[in-house]
Amino acid sequence: MSKWNSPTEWQRLCDGSGCPICARGQPLNNIAQLDSSWLTMSEAAPMPGYVCLVSRVHAVVLHDLTSSQAESFMRDAHKVSSALSAVTGAVKLNYEIHGNTLPHLHMHYFPRYVGDPFEGHAIEPARVSQRVYSAGQFSKLRDRLLLELGASAVRR
Ligand SMILES: [Zn+2]
Repeated sequence: MSKWNSPTEWQRLCDGSGCPICARGQPLNNIAQLDSSWLTMSEAAPMPGYVCLVSRVHAVVLHDLTSSQAESFMRDAHKVSSALSAVTGAVKLNYEIHGNTLPHLHMHYFPRYVGDPFEGHAIEPARVSQRVYSAGQFSKLRDRLLLELGASAVRR
C-alpha cells in the first residue's frame, strides 16, 4: 500500500513537515554538495555507477522550484551527467524522476552498459538482488566521480 492512501502522511511528506530528508538536513549516502543539490551514491545499487541527485530545496515536482532554482538544479544535473558518463564509460545514461514514495525532488541516474541485465529496456531495481560492485570498486568509482566533478567528499 502506498503512502498516497494516507492523506495526512502524504501531505506531511509533500509539504516538507514530515520529509525525512529535510528532517535530517541531507539525504542518506550523501557524497557531495553541489550548487543546488546533493549527490548520493551507495554500494547498494541496482547498477554500477548509480547515483541520485537530490534538490537542496524541498520540492515535490520541478515547477515547485522557482525558474532560477530549477535552472540551477538542471545545471547540477548536466554536470553530474557529464562526469558520470566520463568515469563509468557507460553506453548511455538513463534518468528518472519519480518521488512516488519520497516526494522530495530527486533524479536517479542509471548508467547503462553493453550486456547489462536490462539491455534494451528500463532498469527494474527491484529485480536486482546481487551486489553490483566487486571489492574496492565502489570507493574507486566514487572517488573518480568526485574528482571529475571537482567536488570534495562530504564529511560525515
Ligand atoms: Zn524534503
